[in-house]
This record gives sequence, C-alpha cells and structure tokens, in this order.
Amino acid sequence: MPVHVPIGAKYAATSTEMVRTDFVCEKCGHRAPVEVVASGTAIKEAPFFLFRKSAADAAVAEAPEVAKRNALNFTRLYPCPKCGKRQTKAVMVLILGEAVIGALIALPVWLVGMFVGLVAFCTKDGPAYPMYLTGFALAFLTIALVVRRGYVKTTRLAQIAVEFLEAGEEGSK
Ligand SMILES: [Zn+2]
Repeated sequence: MPVHVPIGAKYAATSTEMVRTDFVCEKCGHRAPVEVVASGTAIKEAPFFLFRKSAADAAVAEAPEVAKRNALNFTRLYPCPKCGKRQTKAVMVLILGEAVIGALIALPVWLVGMFVGLVAFCTKDGPAYPMYLTGFALAFLTIALVVRRGYVKTTRLAQIAVEFLEAGEEGSK
C-alpha cells in the first residue's frame, strides 16, 4: 500500500504596503510625488519539515519587500500625466516577462503542431509543411495573447495602485 510521505512544506505570506516615491518620466523629465499601494507575496520552502519556523518567518519578512518592489514597478508603468507616455524600459521588462510565461505555455502547442506535421509527413496523408507552420503560428499566437493579457492586466493594476499627491501640475517644475 502506498504511503504518502510529505517531504516539505511551502509557506506563503502576503503583505500590502503603501510606498511614497517620486514619479519620474524618462521622456519629458516630469517629476511628481506619488503614493502607491501594492501587494506582494513571498513563498518559502521548508525542506523535510525542518526549519519550518524559519521558512515561515522568512516569507513574512520578505513579503513587504516584494510589495514595495511591485509598488515601484507600478509607478514606472504609470503613463506620465504630462506627456502621456509610459517608460520604455519598464514596458519592455513587463513584455519580456510575459513573453517568457507565454513561451512556456506555447511550447506544448508548438510540440503538438510539430508532431502532427511529422505524422502527416510520415504517412504522406497530408501536407507536412503547412502543419509545421500551423504549429509555429499557434505558438506565436499563444505568446501574443499571453503578452497582451499580462500587459493589460498589469497596466490596469498600476492605474489603480498609483495616486499622485499633487492636484494638477502647477506645483511641479
Ligand atoms: Zn512625460
């Protein structure tokens, strides 16, 4: 009879932090104080149930740091109130991150497309070349959809998280 032996445990802690920082636009140089509210989750693993307390403590200690990092990231993703543009570097980092997630999801899609193409090629039942193309096309489409979804979601969260402390732009230099 199989016996389930747990070999470890994961501890997650979530924290919500308010960060006061400066919004700085790399395009027009606009600078304004903002207040950002963001959450962050830290996950720590306790191997073999040893160090359970320290894993839990580490997660609790790290969660606020993750929340603060997210807050600063949201600030960089907020469109500049003066010129309306987003910061290129932050947008690139976001898109690349989402593309990696998209690629992981697209990989099986691509493999299935290749496999179908191979079967078609071996059995001479159908055109192999278009099947390869279908695999690539589906994989790229998957990545594009994941990137788009992630971009829309994160920039929307940034829109909610960031609040400018100055009313209007009269006070800024
Ligand atoms: Zn600007």
